Amino acid sequence: MNNADFYKDILDSIELPVLTVDSSDFTVTYVNNAFINSVCNISIGEKISKLDFSVPCDESWNEIARQSVESGKKTEKTFFLESRQTWFNAELKCADSHIIFNFYDITSKRFYNEQLQQAIFTDTLTALPNRIRFNKDFSNLIHNENEKFALMIFDLDNMKSINDSKGLAEGDRILIRTAKIFKNFEREKIRTYRFGDDEFAVLATDITSADSAINIADTLLETFMSRRISISGGITIFPDDSSVPEDLLKFADLAMHHAKKDGRHRTCIFTPEMQKTFLRKVFYKERMPAAFEDNEFKLFFQPQFDIASNTLRGFEALIRWEDPEYGRIPPDDFIPIAEESGFIVKLGEWILNTAFDFQKKWETKYDYDGVMSINVSPVQLKEKNFLPMLQSITEKYGVNPSHIEIEITEGVLIENTEQVIAILDKVKQLGFGVSLDDFGTGYSSLRYLQILPLTTLKIDKSFIQNITESDGISAEITNSIISMVTKMGLDTIAEGVEKNDQLALLKSLNCKNVQGFLRGKPMSPERIEAFLSGNNSALDKL
Ligand code: C2E
Ligand code: CA
Ligand code: CA
Repeated sequence: MNNADFYKDILDSIELPVLTVDSSDFTVTYVNNAFINSVCNISIGEKISKLDFSVPCDESWNEIARQSVESGKKTEKTFFLESRQTWFNAELKCADSHIIFNFYDITSKRFYNEQLQQAIFTDTLTALPNRIRFNKDFSNLIHNENEKFALMIFDLDNMKSINDSKGLAEGDRILIRTAKIFKNFEREKIRTYRFGDDEFAVLATDITSADSAINIADTLLETFMSRRISISGGITIFPDDSSVPEDLLKFADLAMHHAKKDGRHRTCIFTPEMQKTFLRKVFYKERMPAAFEDNEFKLFFQPQFDIASNTLRGFEALIRWEDPEYGRIPPDDFIPIAEESGFIVKLGEWILNTAFDFQKKWETKYDYDGVMSINVSPVQLKEKNFLPMLQSITEKYGVNPSHIEIEITEGVLIENTEQVIAILDKVKQLGFGVSLDDFGTGYSSLRYLQILPLTTLKIDKSFIQNITESDGISAEITNSIISMVTKMGLDTIAEGVEKNDQLALLKSLNCKNVQGFLRGKPMSPERIEAFLSGNNSALDKL
Protein backbone atom coordinates (compact mmCIF):
# COMPACT_ATOMS: atom_id res chain seq x y z
CA MET A 1 0.00 0.00 0.00
CA ASN A 2 1.46 3.36 -0.98
CA ASN A 3 1.42 6.33 1.33
CA ALA A 4 -1.52 8.06 -0.42
CA ASP A 5 -3.75 4.98 -0.11
CA PHE A 6 -2.73 4.62 3.49
CA TYR A 7 -3.87 8.16 4.36
CA LYS A 8 -7.01 7.85 2.18
CA ASP A 9 -8.00 4.75 4.14
CA ILE A 10 -7.53 6.61 7.38
CA LEU A 11 -9.57 9.59 6.20
CA ASP A 12 -12.32 7.33 4.87
CA SER A 13 -12.59 5.59 8.22
CA ILE A 14 -13.34 8.74 10.20
CA GLU A 15 -16.86 10.14 10.65
CA LEU A 16 -15.87 13.75 10.12
CA PRO A 17 -16.71 14.88 6.56
CA VAL A 18 -13.55 16.23 4.91
CA LEU A 19 -13.08 17.90 1.53
CA THR A 20 -10.14 19.68 0.01
CA VAL A 21 -10.10 22.12 -2.90
CA ASP A 22 -7.37 23.64 -4.97
CA SER A 23 -6.78 27.13 -3.60
CA SER A 24 -6.27 28.68 -7.01
CA ASP A 25 -9.36 27.49 -8.98
CA PHE A 26 -11.46 25.98 -6.15
CA THR A 27 -11.90 22.57 -7.76
CA VAL A 28 -12.30 19.57 -5.48
CA THR A 29 -9.03 17.73 -4.97
CA TYR A 30 -10.15 15.25 -2.36
CA VAL A 31 -13.38 14.13 -0.65
CA ASN A 32 -13.77 11.41 1.99
CA ASN A 33 -16.56 8.83 2.44
CA ALA A 34 -18.10 10.61 5.39
CA PHE A 35 -18.57 13.70 3.24
CA ILE A 36 -20.30 11.79 0.47
CA ASN A 37 -22.47 9.86 2.93
CA SER A 38 -23.55 12.70 5.17
CA VAL A 39 -23.19 15.93 3.17
CA CYS A 40 -23.49 15.46 -0.58
CA ASN A 41 -22.15 13.64 -3.54
CA ILE A 42 -19.36 15.54 -5.26
CA SER A 43 -16.45 14.26 -7.31
CA ILE A 44 -12.82 15.24 -7.59
CA GLY A 45 -12.39 17.88 -10.28
CA GLU A 46 -15.80 19.47 -9.76
CA LYS A 47 -15.99 23.13 -8.80
CA ILE A 48 -16.77 23.95 -5.21
CA SER A 49 -19.49 26.30 -6.42
CA LYS A 50 -21.39 23.15 -7.47
CA LEU A 51 -21.85 22.16 -3.84
CA ASP A 52 -25.58 21.67 -3.64
CA PHE A 53 -25.98 23.15 -0.20
CA SER A 54 -26.53 26.76 0.50
CA VAL A 55 -24.90 28.99 3.03
CA PRO A 56 -26.71 31.58 5.10
CA CYS A 57 -26.43 35.13 3.83
CA ASP A 58 -25.75 35.72 0.18
CA GLU A 59 -22.21 34.48 0.14
CA SER A 60 -21.26 31.68 -2.22
CA TRP A 61 -18.85 28.88 -1.34
CA ASN A 62 -16.51 30.33 -3.94
CA GLU A 63 -16.51 33.63 -2.12
CA ILE A 64 -15.95 31.99 1.25
CA ALA A 65 -13.04 29.99 -0.10
CA ARG A 66 -11.58 33.12 -1.68
CA GLN A 67 -11.78 35.04 1.60
CA SER A 68 -10.16 32.15 3.40
CA VAL A 69 -7.22 32.20 1.00
CA GLU A 70 -6.90 35.95 1.22
CA SER A 71 -6.90 36.07 5.01
CA GLY A 72 -4.80 32.96 5.38
CA LYS A 73 -6.68 32.33 8.60
CA LYS A 74 -9.06 29.67 9.69
CA THR A 75 -12.62 30.56 8.56
CA GLU A 76 -15.86 29.21 10.02
CA LYS A 77 -19.38 29.10 8.55
CA THR A 78 -22.56 27.65 10.00
CA PHE A 79 -25.16 26.40 7.55
CA PHE A 80 -28.26 24.26 7.38
CA LEU A 81 -28.34 21.36 4.97
CA GLU A 82 -31.96 21.24 3.94
CA SER A 83 -31.81 17.83 2.21
CA ARG A 84 -30.56 16.16 5.40
CA GLN A 85 -32.11 18.50 7.95
CA THR A 86 -28.71 18.93 9.52
CA TRP A 87 -26.81 21.92 10.88
CA PHE A 88 -23.10 21.99 10.07
CA ASN A 89 -20.21 24.12 11.14
CA ALA A 90 -17.77 24.27 8.24
CA GLU A 91 -14.15 25.01 9.12
CA LEU A 92 -11.80 26.14 6.31
CA LYS A 93 -8.04 25.93 6.73
CA CYS A 94 -5.42 26.82 4.12
CA ALA A 95 -2.59 24.34 3.66
CA ASP A 96 -0.02 24.87 0.85
CA SER A 97 -2.03 24.90 -2.37
CA HIS A 98 -5.19 23.46 -0.79
CA ILE A 99 -8.04 24.51 1.36
CA ILE A 100 -9.20 21.81 3.78
CA PHE A 101 -12.89 21.81 4.67
CA ASN A 102 -14.01 20.02 7.88
CA PHE A 103 -17.74 19.73 8.49
CA TYR A 104 -18.91 19.37 12.08
CA ASP A 105 -22.50 18.21 12.65
CA ILE A 106 -23.83 20.63 15.30
CA THR A 107 -27.55 19.72 15.04
CA SER A 108 -27.92 18.21 18.51
CA LYS A 109 -25.89 21.02 20.09
CA ARG A 110 -28.16 23.59 18.46
CA PHE A 111 -31.23 21.68 19.52
CA TYR A 112 -29.96 21.54 23.08
CA ASN A 113 -29.18 25.27 23.00
CA GLU A 114 -32.64 26.03 21.70
CA GLN A 115 -34.18 24.00 24.48
CA LEU A 116 -32.01 25.74 26.98
CA GLN A 117 -33.01 29.14 25.62
CA GLN A 118 -36.61 28.03 25.70
CA ALA A 119 -36.25 26.99 29.34
CA ILE A 120 -34.57 30.24 30.30
CA PHE A 121 -37.30 32.35 28.73
CA THR A 122 -40.36 30.29 29.64
CA ASP A 123 -42.33 30.13 32.84
CA THR A 124 -42.42 26.54 34.02
CA LEU A 125 -45.93 26.56 35.47
CA THR A 126 -47.82 28.33 32.69
CA ALA A 127 -45.50 27.94 29.67
CA LEU A 128 -45.90 31.65 28.96
CA PRO A 129 -42.78 33.72 28.22
CA ASN A 130 -41.37 34.77 31.57
CA ARG A 131 -40.02 37.95 33.11
CA ILE A 132 -36.57 37.45 31.55
CA ARG A 133 -38.14 37.28 28.07
CA PHE A 134 -40.26 40.30 28.96
CA ASN A 135 -37.19 42.31 30.00
CA LYS A 136 -35.48 41.52 26.70
CA ASP A 137 -38.51 42.36 24.55
CA PHE A 138 -39.34 45.44 26.57
CA SER A 139 -35.85 46.85 26.29
CA ASN A 140 -35.74 46.06 22.54
CA LEU A 141 -38.97 47.98 22.06
CA ILE A 142 -37.69 50.95 24.04
CA HIS A 143 -34.53 51.09 21.98
CA ASN A 144 -36.58 51.07 18.83
CA GLU A 145 -37.58 54.60 19.76
CA ASN A 146 -40.00 55.54 17.02
CA GLU A 147 -42.66 52.98 17.78
CA LYS A 148 -45.53 53.78 20.12
CA PHE A 149 -46.42 50.83 22.31
CA ALA A 150 -48.48 50.02 25.39
CA LEU A 151 -47.26 48.25 28.48
CA MET A 152 -50.00 46.63 30.53
CA ILE A 153 -49.66 44.90 33.86
CA PHE A 154 -52.47 42.65 35.06
CA ASP A 155 -52.91 41.20 38.52
CA LEU A 156 -55.39 38.53 39.60
CA ASP A 157 -57.77 40.01 42.15
CA ASN A 158 -58.31 37.17 44.57
CA MET A 159 -55.19 35.10 44.41
CA LYS A 160 -54.29 35.43 48.06
CA SER A 161 -57.67 34.42 49.33
CA ILE A 162 -57.87 31.53 46.81
CA ASN A 163 -54.49 30.22 47.96
CA ASP A 164 -55.53 30.63 51.59
CA SER A 165 -58.99 29.10 51.29
CA LYS A 166 -58.66 26.56 48.47
CA GLY A 167 -54.99 25.67 48.61
CA LEU A 168 -51.98 26.23 46.39
CA ALA A 169 -52.95 23.52 43.86
CA GLU A 170 -56.19 25.35 43.06
CA GLY A 171 -54.21 28.61 42.91
CA ASP A 172 -51.91 27.01 40.33
CA ARG A 173 -54.88 25.80 38.28
CA ILE A 174 -56.25 29.32 38.13
CA LEU A 175 -52.85 30.68 37.08
CA ILE A 176 -52.70 28.10 34.27
CA ARG A 177 -56.23 28.98 33.09
CA THR A 178 -55.36 32.67 33.22
CA ALA A 179 -52.17 32.09 31.24
CA LYS A 180 -54.14 30.21 28.56
CA ILE A 181 -56.44 33.17 28.09
CA PHE A 182 -53.43 35.46 27.70
CA LYS A 183 -51.80 32.99 25.30
CA ASN A 184 -54.94 32.85 23.13
CA PHE A 185 -54.88 36.59 22.99
CA GLU A 186 -51.40 36.70 21.46
CA ARG A 187 -51.13 38.28 18.02
CA GLU A 188 -48.18 39.45 16.04
CA LYS A 189 -48.46 42.84 17.74
CA ILE A 190 -49.62 41.64 21.16
CA ARG A 191 -47.22 39.68 23.30
CA THR A 192 -48.08 38.30 26.73
CA TYR A 193 -45.89 37.26 29.63
CA ARG A 194 -46.10 35.84 33.13
CA PHE A 195 -44.61 38.73 35.02
CA GLY A 196 -44.55 37.59 38.63
CA ASP A 197 -46.58 35.47 41.06
CA ASP A 198 -50.07 36.37 39.91
CA GLU A 199 -49.03 39.18 37.61
CA PHE A 200 -49.08 39.11 33.83
CA ALA A 201 -47.76 41.64 31.34
CA VAL A 202 -48.82 42.57 27.84
CA LEU A 203 -46.77 44.47 25.27
CA ALA A 204 -48.96 45.84 22.50
CA THR A 205 -47.00 47.40 19.66
CA ASP A 206 -48.19 49.33 16.64
CA ILE A 207 -50.89 51.16 18.58
CA THR A 208 -52.02 54.52 17.30
CA SER A 209 -53.38 56.00 20.51
CA ALA A 210 -54.11 55.34 24.16
CA ASP A 211 -57.66 54.45 23.11
CA SER A 212 -56.51 51.53 21.05
CA ALA A 213 -54.58 50.24 24.07
CA ILE A 214 -57.68 50.64 26.25
CA ASN A 215 -59.69 48.68 23.69
CA ILE A 216 -57.22 45.81 23.77
CA ALA A 217 -57.27 45.75 27.58
CA ASP A 218 -61.06 45.89 27.70
CA THR A 219 -61.43 43.02 25.25
CA LEU A 220 -59.09 40.96 27.40
CA LEU A 221 -61.08 41.86 30.47
CA GLU A 222 -64.32 40.76 28.84
CA THR A 223 -62.81 37.36 28.11
CA PHE A 224 -61.80 37.05 31.74
CA MET A 225 -65.26 38.10 32.86
CA SER A 226 -66.86 35.41 30.73
CA ARG A 227 -64.54 32.85 32.38
CA ARG A 228 -65.34 34.22 35.84
CA ILE A 229 -61.78 35.29 36.57
CA SER A 230 -61.41 38.65 38.26
CA ILE A 231 -58.33 40.56 37.18
CA SER A 232 -57.23 44.23 37.26
CA GLY A 233 -54.88 45.94 34.86
CA GLY A 234 -52.86 49.13 34.45
CA ILE A 235 -51.82 50.64 31.14
CA THR A 236 -49.04 53.03 30.25
CA ILE A 237 -47.94 54.30 26.85
CA PHE A 238 -44.41 54.64 25.48
CA PRO A 239 -43.20 57.31 24.75
CA ASP A 240 -46.20 59.49 25.76
CA ASP A 241 -45.96 58.76 29.50
CA SER A 242 -42.21 58.21 29.63
CA SER A 243 -39.38 56.61 27.71
CA VAL A 244 -37.57 55.41 30.84
CA PRO A 245 -38.17 51.68 31.43
CA GLU A 246 -38.34 51.94 35.23
CA ASP A 247 -40.89 54.77 34.99
CA LEU A 248 -43.09 52.83 32.61
CA LEU A 249 -43.07 49.79 34.87
CA LYS A 250 -43.93 51.94 37.87
CA PHE A 251 -46.68 53.78 35.99
CA ALA A 252 -48.34 50.58 34.77
CA ASP A 253 -48.17 49.26 38.32
CA LEU A 254 -49.64 52.48 39.75
CA ALA A 255 -52.48 52.38 37.23
CA MET A 256 -53.11 48.72 38.07
CA HIS A 257 -53.33 49.53 41.79
CA HIS A 258 -55.68 52.35 40.92
CA ALA A 259 -57.91 49.85 39.12
CA LYS A 260 -57.90 47.68 42.24
CA LYS A 261 -58.80 50.62 44.43
CA ASP A 262 -61.58 51.57 42.05
CA GLY A 263 -63.31 48.29 42.77
CA ARG A 264 -61.20 45.67 40.97
CA HIS A 265 -61.90 43.78 37.77
CA ARG A 266 -61.21 46.81 35.64
CA THR A 267 -58.37 48.51 33.83
CA CYS A 268 -56.99 51.99 34.35
CA ILE A 269 -54.75 54.03 32.13
CA PHE A 270 -51.93 55.93 33.82
CA THR A 271 -52.41 59.66 34.41
CA PRO A 272 -49.87 62.17 35.79
CA GLU A 273 -52.29 62.69 38.69
CA MET A 274 -51.58 59.11 39.81
CA GLN A 275 -47.89 59.90 39.91
CA LYS A 276 -48.53 62.98 42.06
CA THR A 277 -50.66 61.00 44.49
CA PHE A 278 -47.98 58.34 44.58
CA LEU A 279 -45.22 60.82 45.36
CA ARG A 280 -47.35 62.41 48.05
CA LYS A 281 -47.93 59.01 49.58
CA VAL A 282 -44.22 58.24 49.54
CA PHE A 283 -43.55 61.58 51.16
CA TYR A 284 -46.16 61.06 53.90
CA LYS A 285 -44.95 57.55 54.54
CA GLU A 286 -41.36 58.62 54.94
CA ARG A 287 -42.16 61.75 56.90
CA MET A 288 -44.61 60.21 59.38
CA PRO A 289 -42.23 58.67 61.95
CA ALA A 290 -40.21 61.89 62.28
CA ALA A 291 -43.41 63.96 62.41
CA PHE A 292 -44.55 61.76 65.28
CA GLU A 293 -41.31 62.34 67.17
CA ASP A 294 -41.68 66.08 66.53
CA ASN A 295 -45.19 66.06 68.09
CA GLU A 296 -46.86 67.14 64.86
CA PHE A 297 -49.85 64.89 65.58
CA LYS A 298 -52.63 66.25 67.79
CA LEU A 299 -56.04 65.01 68.84
CA PHE A 300 -59.11 67.14 68.18
CA PHE A 301 -62.52 66.36 69.62
CA GLN A 302 -65.96 66.66 68.06
CA PRO A 303 -68.98 66.79 70.38
CA GLN A 304 -71.95 64.47 70.12
CA PHE A 305 -75.31 65.54 71.54
CA ASP A 306 -78.42 63.69 72.62
CA ILE A 307 -81.08 65.07 70.28
CA ALA A 308 -84.13 64.87 72.55
CA SER A 309 -82.53 66.35 75.69
CA ASN A 310 -79.93 68.47 73.88
CA THR A 311 -77.32 67.29 76.38
CA LEU A 312 -73.72 66.35 75.66
CA ARG A 313 -73.28 62.61 74.95
CA GLY A 314 -69.51 62.66 74.48
CA PHE A 315 -66.71 63.39 72.02
CA GLU A 316 -65.14 61.64 69.07
CA ALA A 317 -61.35 61.87 69.06
CA LEU A 318 -60.09 62.84 65.58
CA ILE A 319 -56.42 62.99 64.73
CA ARG A 320 -54.76 66.02 63.14
CA TRP A 321 -51.35 66.31 61.49
CA GLU A 322 -49.92 69.83 61.36
CA ASP A 323 -46.85 69.84 59.15
CA PRO A 324 -44.83 73.06 59.61
CA GLU A 325 -44.22 73.21 55.85
CA TYR A 326 -47.31 71.67 54.27
CA GLY A 327 -49.90 72.78 56.79
CA ARG A 328 -52.73 70.52 57.91
CA ILE A 329 -52.70 67.10 56.25
CA PRO A 330 -56.19 65.50 56.38
CA PRO A 331 -56.52 62.13 58.16
CA ASP A 332 -58.30 60.66 55.14
CA ASP A 333 -55.01 61.18 53.28
CA PHE A 334 -52.54 59.83 55.81
CA ILE A 335 -54.45 57.19 57.82
CA PRO A 336 -54.62 54.75 54.84
CA ILE A 337 -50.87 55.24 54.33
CA ALA A 338 -50.17 54.64 58.01
CA GLU A 339 -52.28 51.49 57.73
CA GLU A 340 -50.33 50.30 54.72
CA SER A 341 -46.95 50.95 56.28
CA GLY A 342 -47.98 49.59 59.68
CA PHE A 343 -47.19 52.90 61.39
CA ILE A 344 -50.83 53.04 62.48
CA VAL A 345 -50.00 50.55 65.24
CA LYS A 346 -47.66 52.99 66.98
CA LEU A 347 -49.84 55.99 66.11
CA GLY A 348 -52.98 54.17 67.26
CA GLU A 349 -51.42 53.37 70.63
CA TRP A 350 -50.60 57.04 71.06
CA ILE A 351 -54.19 58.00 70.07
CA LEU A 352 -55.61 55.64 72.69
CA ASN A 353 -53.25 56.91 75.38
CA THR A 354 -53.94 60.55 74.56
CA ALA A 355 -57.73 60.12 74.37
CA PHE A 356 -57.80 58.21 77.69
CA ASP A 357 -55.57 60.85 79.22
CA PHE A 358 -57.97 63.68 78.25
CA GLN A 359 -60.98 61.63 79.32
CA LYS A 360 -59.52 61.13 82.79
CA LYS A 361 -58.46 64.77 83.03
CA TRP A 362 -61.93 66.02 82.03
CA GLU A 363 -63.71 63.59 84.35
CA THR A 364 -61.57 64.77 87.23
CA LYS A 365 -61.42 68.46 86.45
CA TYR A 366 -64.86 69.20 84.97
CA ASP A 367 -67.03 66.48 86.52
CA TYR A 368 -67.54 65.24 82.96
CA ASP A 369 -69.17 61.81 82.56
CA GLY A 370 -69.64 61.50 78.79
CA VAL A 371 -68.25 59.01 76.31
CA MET A 372 -64.96 59.16 74.42
CA SER A 373 -65.29 57.61 70.95
CA ILE A 374 -61.96 56.45 69.55
CA ASN A 375 -61.42 55.33 65.97
CA VAL A 376 -59.51 52.06 65.80
CA SER A 377 -58.09 50.91 62.49
CA PRO A 378 -58.58 47.29 61.38
CA VAL A 379 -54.80 46.89 61.25
CA GLN A 380 -54.53 48.00 64.86
CA LEU A 381 -57.40 45.83 66.05
CA LYS A 382 -55.87 42.71 64.50
CA GLU A 383 -52.53 43.26 66.25
CA LYS A 384 -51.86 40.47 68.75
CA ASN A 385 -51.18 43.00 71.43
CA PHE A 386 -54.39 45.03 70.98
CA LEU A 387 -56.45 43.65 73.88
CA PRO A 388 -53.65 43.61 76.49
CA MET A 389 -52.72 47.14 75.41
CA LEU A 390 -56.31 48.37 75.73
CA GLN A 391 -56.56 46.83 79.19
CA SER A 392 -53.26 48.24 80.37
CA ILE A 393 -54.12 51.74 79.13
CA THR A 394 -57.50 51.49 80.88
CA GLU A 395 -55.75 50.60 84.12
CA LYS A 396 -53.05 53.22 83.65
CA TYR A 397 -55.54 56.09 83.40
CA GLY A 398 -58.19 54.56 85.67
CA VAL A 399 -61.01 55.20 83.20
CA ASN A 400 -64.25 53.23 83.38
CA PRO A 401 -64.51 51.17 80.13
CA SER A 402 -68.19 52.19 79.85
CA HIS A 403 -66.93 55.72 79.14
CA ILE A 404 -64.93 54.55 76.14
CA GLU A 405 -66.35 53.59 72.76
CA ILE A 406 -64.24 51.83 70.11
CA GLU A 407 -65.22 52.92 66.60
CA ILE A 408 -64.67 50.40 63.88
CA THR A 409 -65.60 50.27 60.21
CA GLU A 410 -66.81 47.33 58.16
CA GLY A 411 -63.24 47.17 56.82
CA VAL A 412 -62.40 45.02 59.87
CA LEU A 413 -64.36 42.18 58.30
CA ILE A 414 -62.38 41.93 55.07
CA GLU A 415 -60.11 39.24 56.47
CA ASN A 416 -60.05 36.95 59.52
CA THR A 417 -63.70 37.62 60.37
CA GLU A 418 -63.83 35.12 63.21
CA GLN A 419 -60.68 36.43 64.86
CA VAL A 420 -62.03 40.00 64.62
CA ILE A 421 -65.39 39.07 66.11
CA ALA A 422 -63.66 37.27 68.99
CA ILE A 423 -61.59 40.39 69.73
CA LEU A 424 -64.65 42.65 69.60
CA ASP A 425 -66.65 40.26 71.79
CA LYS A 426 -63.94 40.57 74.41
CA VAL A 427 -63.88 44.37 74.06
CA LYS A 428 -67.61 44.46 74.66
CA GLN A 429 -67.43 41.99 77.56
CA LEU A 430 -64.83 44.21 79.21
CA GLY A 431 -67.48 46.93 79.24
CA PHE A 432 -66.32 49.13 76.35
CA GLY A 433 -68.77 50.40 73.77
CA VAL A 434 -68.36 49.13 70.20
CA SER A 435 -69.57 51.44 67.49
CA LEU A 436 -69.94 50.68 63.76
CA ASP A 437 -68.80 53.78 61.86
CA ASP A 438 -69.82 55.05 58.42
CA PHE A 439 -72.90 52.83 58.13
CA GLY A 440 -74.43 53.30 54.70
CA THR A 441 -71.17 53.48 52.76
CA GLY A 442 -69.25 50.69 51.08
CA TYR A 443 -70.91 47.32 51.24
CA SER A 444 -72.81 48.05 54.45
CA SER A 445 -74.85 45.02 55.02
CA LEU A 446 -77.49 44.26 57.60
CA ARG A 447 -75.55 41.07 58.25
CA TYR A 448 -72.82 43.14 59.92
CA LEU A 449 -75.38 44.27 62.44
CA GLN A 450 -76.11 40.64 63.24
CA ILE A 451 -72.60 39.28 63.47
CA LEU A 452 -70.77 42.20 65.09
CA PRO A 453 -71.06 42.69 68.86
CA LEU A 454 -72.15 46.34 68.65
CA THR A 455 -73.48 48.91 71.09
CA THR A 456 -73.75 51.89 68.70
CA LEU A 457 -74.42 52.56 65.04
CA LYS A 458 -73.20 55.70 63.28
CA ILE A 459 -75.16 56.61 60.18
CA ASP A 460 -72.80 58.01 57.58
CA LYS A 461 -72.90 61.64 56.54
CA SER A 462 -73.55 60.72 52.91
CA PHE A 463 -76.99 59.49 54.00
CA ILE A 464 -77.70 62.47 56.18
CA GLN A 465 -76.81 64.88 53.39
CA ASN A 466 -79.70 63.55 51.28
CA ILE A 467 -82.12 63.01 54.10
CA THR A 468 -84.27 66.07 53.41
CA GLU A 469 -84.53 65.51 49.65
CA SER A 470 -88.07 65.60 48.39
CA ASP A 471 -88.19 62.04 47.05
CA GLY A 472 -87.91 60.92 50.68
CA ILE A 473 -85.84 57.81 49.83
CA SER A 474 -82.88 58.57 52.13
CA ALA A 475 -85.30 59.57 54.89
CA GLU A 476 -87.19 56.32 54.50
CA ILE A 477 -84.03 54.21 54.57
CA THR A 478 -82.72 56.15 57.59
CA ASN A 479 -86.06 55.65 59.30
CA SER A 480 -85.90 51.86 58.76
CA ILE A 481 -82.31 51.64 59.95
CA ILE A 482 -83.02 53.67 63.08
CA SER A 483 -86.13 51.78 64.07
CA MET A 484 -84.47 48.43 63.46
CA VAL A 485 -81.26 49.09 65.38
CA THR A 486 -83.13 50.81 68.19
CA LYS A 487 -85.17 47.63 68.59
CA MET A 488 -81.89 45.71 68.71
CA GLY A 489 -80.95 47.92 71.67
CA LEU A 490 -78.27 49.92 69.86
CA ASP A 491 -77.57 53.58 70.33
CA THR A 492 -77.74 55.65 67.11
CA ILE A 493 -75.66 58.63 66.03
CA ALA A 494 -76.30 60.64 62.87
CA GLU A 495 -72.99 61.94 61.44
CA GLY A 496 -72.36 65.04 59.39
CA VAL A 497 -75.47 66.96 60.39
CA GLU A 498 -75.04 70.47 59.02
CA LYS A 499 -78.58 71.84 58.77
CA ASN A 500 -81.47 72.51 61.11
CA ASP A 501 -84.00 70.74 58.89
CA GLN A 502 -81.80 67.62 58.89
CA LEU A 503 -81.70 67.71 62.68
CA ALA A 504 -85.47 68.24 62.92
CA LEU A 505 -86.13 65.30 60.62
CA LEU A 506 -83.71 63.06 62.55
CA LYS A 507 -85.51 64.02 65.74
CA SER A 508 -88.85 62.99 64.21
CA LEU A 509 -87.27 59.66 63.17
CA ASN A 510 -86.22 59.07 66.79
CA CYS A 511 -82.51 59.16 66.04
CA LYS A 512 -80.88 59.29 69.45
CA ASN A 513 -77.75 61.40 68.89
CA VAL A 514 -76.23 63.91 66.53
CA GLN A 515 -72.65 64.70 65.55
CA GLY A 516 -72.03 67.37 62.96
CA PHE A 517 -70.78 70.84 62.18
CA LEU A 518 -74.23 72.23 63.05
CA ARG A 519 -73.71 71.41 66.71
CA GLY A 520 -69.93 71.44 66.87
CA LYS A 521 -66.86 70.97 64.69
CA PRO A 522 -63.79 68.96 65.73
CA MET A 523 -61.96 71.27 68.19
CA SER A 524 -58.68 71.56 70.03
CA PRO A 525 -58.59 70.24 73.63
CA GLU A 526 -58.23 73.87 74.83
CA ARG A 527 -61.57 74.82 73.27
CA ILE A 528 -63.21 71.65 74.61
CA GLU A 529 -61.94 72.54 78.08
CA ALA A 530 -63.33 76.06 77.78
CA PHE A 531 -66.68 74.54 76.80
CA LEU A 532 -66.57 72.01 79.65
CA SER A 533 -65.88 74.79 82.10
CA GLY A 534 -69.17 76.39 81.10
CA ASN A 535 -68.33 78.62 78.17
CA ASN A 536 -70.93 77.56 75.57
CA SER A 537 -69.66 80.09 73.06
CA ALA A 538 -66.35 78.19 72.95
CA LEU A 539 -68.02 75.69 70.64
CA ASP A 540 -66.92 76.10 67.03
CA LYS A 541 -69.97 75.43 64.85
CA LEU A 542 -71.64 76.41 61.62
P1 C2E B 1 -64.83 59.49 60.60
O1 C2E B 1 -64.42 58.56 61.66
O2 C2E B 1 -66.08 59.17 59.88
O3 C2E B 1 -64.86 60.90 61.23
C1 C2E B 1 -65.83 61.84 60.96
C2 C2E B 1 -65.35 62.79 59.92
O4 C2E B 1 -66.43 63.58 59.48
C3 C2E B 1 -64.32 63.77 60.48
O5 C2E B 1 -63.40 64.04 59.45
C4 C2E B 1 -65.17 64.99 60.79
O6 C2E B 1 -64.44 66.17 60.78
C5 C2E B 1 -66.14 64.95 59.65
N1 C2E B 1 -67.37 65.62 60.02
C6 C2E B 1 -68.00 65.66 61.18
N2 C2E B 1 -69.12 66.38 61.12
C7 C2E B 1 -69.22 66.82 59.85
C8 C2E B 1 -70.18 67.63 59.14
O7 C2E B 1 -71.16 68.09 59.67
N3 C2E B 1 -69.95 67.84 57.82
C9 C2E B 1 -68.87 67.35 57.21
N4 C2E B 1 -68.69 67.62 55.92
N5 C2E B 1 -67.93 66.59 57.83
C10 C2E B 1 -68.13 66.33 59.15
P2 C2E B 1 -61.87 63.99 59.70
O8 C2E B 1 -61.53 64.44 61.07
O9 C2E B 1 -61.25 64.65 58.54
O10 C2E B 1 -61.58 62.46 59.66
C11 C2E B 1 -61.72 61.72 58.52
C12 C2E B 1 -61.53 60.28 58.77
O11 C2E B 1 -60.20 59.97 59.15
C13 C2E B 1 -62.38 59.77 59.91
O12 C2E B 1 -63.68 59.58 59.48
C14 C2E B 1 -61.66 58.50 60.22
O13 C2E B 1 -61.98 57.49 59.30
C15 C2E B 1 -60.21 58.89 60.02
N6 C2E B 1 -59.66 59.26 61.33
C16 C2E B 1 -59.68 60.46 61.94
N7 C2E B 1 -59.08 60.38 63.13
C17 C2E B 1 -58.69 59.12 63.29
C18 C2E B 1 -58.02 58.39 64.34
O14 C2E B 1 -57.69 58.93 65.40
N8 C2E B 1 -57.76 57.06 64.12
C19 C2E B 1 -58.14 56.45 62.98
N9 C2E B 1 -57.85 55.13 62.86
N10 C2E B 1 -58.79 57.07 61.99
C20 C2E B 1 -59.06 58.40 62.15
CA1 CA C 1 -65.35 57.74 63.35
CA1 CA D 1 -67.87 58.22 60.27
